Amino acid sequence: MKNLRLVLGDQLNASHSWFKTIDSNTTYVLMEMRQETDYVAHHIQKIIAFFLSMRTFAAERRAEGHTVIYLTLDDAENKQSLIENLLVLIEKENFTHFEYLLPDEYRLDAQLKAFCETLSINSQSVDSEHFMSERHELAEFFKGKKTFLMESFYRSMRKKHGVMVDAKNEPWTGQWNYDADNRSPFPKNHVATAPLLFSKDVSDLLAMIQAQGVKSIGTVNAKDFIWPTSRAEALTLMNFFMKECLPLFGKFQDAMTTDGWSLYHSRISFAMNAKIVSPKEVIDAAIAAWNQNQERISFAQLEGFVRQIIGWREYMRGVYWAKMPDYQTLNYFNHTRKLPDWFWSGETKMACLKHAIGQSLNYAYAHHIQRLMVTGNFALLAGIHPDDLDKWYLGIYIDAIEWVEITNTRGMSQFADGGIVGTKPYVSSANYIDKMSTYCKTCFYDKTQKLGDKACPFNSLYWHFYDRHVDKLAKNPRIGMMYQTWKKMDETAKAQIVEQAERNLERIESL
Ligand code: FAD
Ligand code: SF4
Repeated sequence: MKNLRLVLGDQLNASHSWFKTIDSNTTYVLMEMRQETDYVAHHIQKIIAFFLSMRTFAAERRAEGHTVIYLTLDDAENKQSLIENLLVLIEKENFTHFEYLLPDEYRLDAQLKAFCETLSINSQSVDSEHFMSERHELAEFFKGKKTFLMESFYRSMRKKHGVMVDAKNEPWTGQWNYDADNRSPFPKNHVATAPLLFSKDVSDLLAMIQAQGVKSIGTVNAKDFIWPTSRAEALTLMNFFMKECLPLFGKFQDAMTTDGWSLYHSRISFAMNAKIVSPKEVIDAAIAAWNQNQERISFAQLEGFVRQIIGWREYMRGVYWAKMPDYQTLNYFNHTRKLPDWFWSGETKMACLKHAIGQSLNYAYAHHIQRLMVTGNFALLAGIHPDDLDKWYLGIYIDAIEWVEITNTRGMSQFADGGIVGTKPYVSSANYIDKMSTYCKTCFYDKTQKLGDKACPFNSLYWHFYDRHVDKLAKNPRIGMMYQTWKKMDETAKAQIVEQAERNLERIESL
C-alpha cells in the first residue's frame, strides 16, 4: 500500500498519532495554494505566519524521518488548487490510499468529501486530535433548544474533563464563573508588560508572495517578524504569558489603551488555531502556573483564561458545526450598508476606531474587546452588511479561520443569528468605551454630546439602533430597560437624536 496523507495549513499538530511511527509507505503532503490565499484578502502577516509555520512543520517532520512533499506557492508544478494538486500527485506517485485530517472549515470539508467520492482508490478521514469536544457534541448537548447558553456548555466541559472541579464535579472554589471580577479599566499611569515578540527575517518569503501577485492587506516588518511559527516559539510565548501576563489577564481583559496593543492578552490564538499547540496543554500550563504561584495569580485570573479556551473556543466550534452552512447567510436585522472605506485604512476622526483598526493593520491583531466593542459595535450600530464584516474580520486577523471568525462576527458581535450565540446585541454608546479605555480623551468627538458636529457618533447611533429595531428587540427581557428610557425621553429630543444619527450615516465615509 502506498499511502498519501494530507495536512492542511491549520493542522500543524506534531503530537497527532499519525506522526508516532515512521512508515516508509506513507507520504505527507502540505501545499501553499492560491485557493487559500485568495478566497478573501488576508493580512500579509497572516499569510507569512501560515506559510512559515507550514514550512517549519514540514522540515521538522522530515528531520524525524517522515517523507514529506511540500509544494511552495511558486512551484511550477503547483496547480494552486487542492483537488487538482491531489489528483496530479496521486496519479504521478501511484498512491493506492488517501487519508486526510478532518478540516475545521465547512468549505474544505465539503470539498474533500466530494473529492473522495470521485476517487478510485481507498480514502479515509481521521480526527485532527486537537479540540476537547467532538464536532457535533454541542449540537447534541443543546438538542431541541433555540439558544445555546455558553455557560452551560462551559460547565459541562469542565466536568467532562475534570478541569478545576473536585471529586463531586463541583468547582474548586464553589463558584463557576468570575467574570464579574474581571472588568477593570487600566488605572492611571499603569504600564502593561511589554509583549514578547519574535524577530525573524522573512524578507525572502515576503518577496516570493509579492512576486506571485497575492493581494494582501496591512503592513509587515519583514526583518522582524513577531509571531510564533514553530512549536518551540509557541511554547515560549505560552510560558511567557503564564509568567508575565496571567496574573493580570482577567482583571484587565476588557481594558483598552492607546499605550499598548496586546496588554495582558496571550496572543496564543494563531498558534492554537494552526494547532501548533493544543487547548489542553494551554489550560494545563495555566493551572500549573496558578498552582505554583497563587500569591501572584488569583483564581479569578485563572478561571477567566480557562473559560475563554475550554468555554468560548470549544463552544464557537460547536455552534459552527451545528449551524453551517446556513449560518453564513444569517442577517437577522437585514443590515445592508457597505463597510466604510476607512475600515481598510484606519483614517477616521473617531479615536477608538482609528486605534483599533490602525493596530489591526500594523499587527494583524486586536484583542477581544477592541473587536467586539469598538469595530463590531460601530458596525452593528451603523447597520453594516454582515457579509462585508465577515470578509474584513476573516482577512485582517492573524487567527482568523472561518469556524471561529464567523461565529464571533455574525453571532456574538452582530447578533445576525438572532440570538443563538448571544442573548442580546453587544452595543454601547461612548459611555462604555470611555469607561474601559483612554480613547475618548484624545478624540476629535465629544463623548458627552449626542447632537452637533462634534458629538460622538456612537451616542446617536446607539439610540437609532434601538429605535429602528424595536420590533425585534423590545420583547427581549435583557433590553426592556433601554426601551423604557427611550420611551420616557421627550419626543423632540428623540427626533433630534434620530436625525443626527441619520446625518452620521449619510456622511459615514467622513466620520
Ligand atoms: P486571549 O484574550 O489571551 O484569550 C485566550 C484564548 O481564548 C484565545 O487565544 C482564544 O483561543 C480563546 N478565546 C477568547 N475569546 C474567544 C472567543 N470569543 N471565541 C473563541 N475563542 C476565544 N478568535 C479567533 O481565534 N479567530 C477569529 O477569527 C476571531 N474573530 C473574532 C471576531 C470578532 C468580531 C470577535 C468579537 C472576536 C473574535 N475572536 C476570534 C475571539 C477573540 O477576540 C480572539 O480569540 C482573541 O482576541 C485572540 O487573542 P488572544 O490569543 O490574545 O486571546
Ligand atoms: Fe470613540 Fe466617541 Fe470616544 Fe471618540 S468620543 S473615542 S468616537 S467613543
